[in-house]
Amino acid sequence: MVQTNTKTVFLAIKVFTPTKNASHATVLAVTSGVTSLPSSMLPGLSAYVASKLAQTKLIEFLASEQPDVFAATVHPGAVETAIFKKSGGKAESVPMDKVQLPAHFLLWMSSPEASFLNGRSVWANWDTSDPRVNVPGMWPSLIRTESTWDFKTIPQRGLEGREIGFPQGRLLGGSSALNGLAFSATSKANIDAWESLGNPGWGWQSFCESMKNSYTSPSADAKGSIQLTVPEADTEWPRIWTETLSALGFPTTGDPFSGELSGGVIVADSIHPLTKQRSYAGNAYLEPARSRPNLTIWTK
Ligand SMILES: Cc1cc2nc3c(=O)[nH]c(=O)nc-3n(C[C@H](O)[C@H](O)[C@H](O)COP(=O)(O)OP(=O)(O)OC[C@H]3O[C@@H](n4cnc5c(N)ncnc54)[C@H](O)[C@@H]3O)c2cc1C
Repeated sequence: MVQTNTKTVFLAIKVFTPTKNASHATVLAVTSGVTSLPSSMLPGLSAYVASKLAQTKLIEFLASEQPDVFAATVHPGAVETAIFKKSGGKAESVPMDKVQLPAHFLLWMSSPEASFLNGRSVWANWDTSDPRVNVPGMWPSLIRTESTWDFKTIPQRGLEGREIGFPQGRLLGGSSALNGLAFSATSKANIDAWESLGNPGWGWQSFCESMKNSYTSPSADAKGSIQLTVPEADTEWPRIWTETLSALGFPTTGDPFSGELSGGVIVADSIHPLTKQRSYAGNAYLEPARSRPNLTIWTK
């Protein structure tokens, strides 16, 4: 491991630096995101992680000791390469990137635009141009930016003429790219009302079956594209609320898809349980279809 990951990089730098073109000398080393994970998650990988961290330090020192060299380490995302398969990695267990992502990223890293990243270790695994889409807690920062259609209601008479903001998604994935991530089924009574109005087959049962094609959740037997996380009760408050509502006679099933929306409800989040990133129309539906030859996307 030390031979491959550290010594090879050291030798490459040693050979490269005397011959470098000082006006745009660039050294980019490909590292792995696993160097950021706690060791308890990586049994048997001590040599690999330690040698990759040593490589990162070599690059960092190169950048600081030789000011005319741009040097950085890049985690290339999750790409299904031969070595990925050999390591026992399973493409279906993690959201994968296409090789174009690190390829484009490395090219960009060697451009003057990336000079502020000198000496850094960076990740190339954003699948959108705006990281605020992926980081769940950042969604409010997308409102009233170039990422929203900043619609407004007409002046509201009942609100002393005020106009109410009505933002909608203006980016790939639409409003699902910036919504509040709450993923809940509507109430059973609402859907059953459709059927009772004379629409056989449009009731709760068939609605639930169809909805299962849209999401995957640890709490349900569903196999759709949107990945859900069901929050754990990490404080006393959910228990207190549930017990109180139960004592008052309200239902508290604990099932986000029970169809009972009054009482104690746990709402699932459209957050991928592994990556902790937003799961939305952009990465769940559009991304897998991007390489189709009959698909062209214009965003301007
Ligand atoms: C701030 C916010 C928070 C929300 N929070 C939640 C939540 O927590 N839980 C929840 O379930 N729902 C939430 N929603 C609602 C939910 O996101 C939307 O109901 C859902 O995304 C609507 O999907 P849609 O496909 O109908 O429309 P959209 O997702 O809005 O998609 C419409 C797409 O069409 C594009 N478009 C519009 N006009 C044109 C045109 N002329 N030419 C080309 N493209 C055009 C838009 O840019 C957009 O990409 C929220 C919405 C917002 C705005």
